[in-house]
Amino acid sequence: MSTSEENPPLGTMTPRRRPKPDVKEIGGRKLKPSTLMMGHGFDPKLSEGSLKAPIFLTSTFAFESAAAGKRHFEGITGKRPGGAEGLVYSRFNNPNQEIVEDRLSVWEESEDALVFSSGMSAIATTMLALASQNDVIVHSGPLYAATETMVAKILAKFGITFLDFPATASNEEVKELLGRAKKIADDKGSKVAVVYLESPANPTNALVDIEGVSKARDEVFGTGDDMPPVAIDNTFLGPLWQRPLDHGADIVIYSLTKYVGGHSDLVAGAALGEKRWLDPIRAMRNTIGTISDPNTAWMLLRSLETVELRMARAGENAEKVCTFLKGHPKVERVGYLGFIEDPSQKDIYDRHCLGAGSTFSLFVKGGEEESFRFLDNLKLAKLAVSLGGTETLASHPAAMTHISVSDERKKALGITDNLVRISIGVEDPDDLIADFEQALDAV
Ligand code: PLP
Repeated sequence: MSTSEENPPLGTMTPRRRPKPDVKEIGGRKLKPSTLMMGHGFDPKLSEGSLKAPIFLTSTFAFESAAAGKRHFEGITGKRPGGAEGLVYSRFNNPNQEIVEDRLSVWEESEDALVFSSGMSAIATTMLALASQNDVIVHSGPLYAATETMVAKILAKFGITFLDFPATASNEEVKELLGRAKKIADDKGSKVAVVYLESPANPTNALVDIEGVSKARDEVFGTGDDMPPVAIDNTFLGPLWQRPLDHGADIVIYSLTKYVGGHSDLVAGAALGEKRWLDPIRAMRNTIGTISDPNTAWMLLRSLETVELRMARAGENAEKVCTFLKGHPKVERVGYLGFIEDPSQKDIYDRHCLGAGSTFSLFVKGGEEESFRFLDNLKLAKLAVSLGGTETLASHPAAMTHISVSDERKKALGITDNLVRISIGVEDPDDLIADFEQALDAV
């Protein structure tokens, strides 16, 4: 028998950092992330000279001594600051996951990184770690539908409430909302747990002013203990086309299932940022077991070697395809970041984005019938949800990913019946244009 008082507190755990033989600089030249993806964080000498990291298919690790095992567990449970110094158990750490985390950190230049079993488990674990009973969450809208469900339905079970603002809200409106959230939390004796953003938003591609939100957060909360972190889902543009930590975000979240995994053959997620923000998230991950498995982590290592190549090619393709679609008589509008007209969205794009990405909204002239006809006539692009893979995908958010969103909210967020979401892959761009042309002709 034990009581909750006797149980050890959720600890902060730093996985053992393996020796890093990496050359990170040559002749004063700092090596680029794309170069470091080939070897960073892995020493072949520790694995029989194997060029590639083996898959460490083990659930547990043998300790060198009982005293070492004790020290590691003191680190895991937080009894001793500094975290575990060695490999313990694959729900906490494993070489494959650690190498992925090291390599993800390179792209964002983040102090720390955590890898998860899915984008949603990264999001859920982060929110569960940051929010306590009766706290308030502030978020931009729209969010990926399951993230909205997590906030509005699952966290609601613990008395956690939310206030949301449209991605396009002005900085004054965001500041006013944050002030309101703080007052609600103060009145309840709770706190604002996190300011959670998704930019570009799925599926509208609306951009949030990360810098503006972060500044508003500082103005409302100062830098005291109750300052909520700004977390952002960077799935649509990261790691190549947007670096939110440079613009005031504290935690960057990914569905690695998308561009980083990049081959539509794995499901994974990540959270990146300073240790002070990630330590409680790691402790929650250790407890609820939302780390990715070694096999998936190994596949992510394979994917990271080509992430720049794939994203660069997909981005070039998308520009060509969107230029074609824009001029087509059956197309009402193309919601592509490269074509932003709204001055405040363009201003955010210019300050935050390093590329327009390859996922966009195509508004077909008509409604659901015309959109379905277009989708059903595609020969090359696959009719499937998800994005960021080597192959081009097309889907209908209102009838698919966002079907659970109420009609009223869909309308408010611009998720219309004529919106088709397209993620461009790395195929030949003229082949893709030929496919879209014949599918539009059939509408
Ligand atoms: N965030 C965004 C923006 C997404 O588009 C998705 C999935 O489509 C997720 C999070 C969830 O990721 P996963 O499917 O890896 O759990």
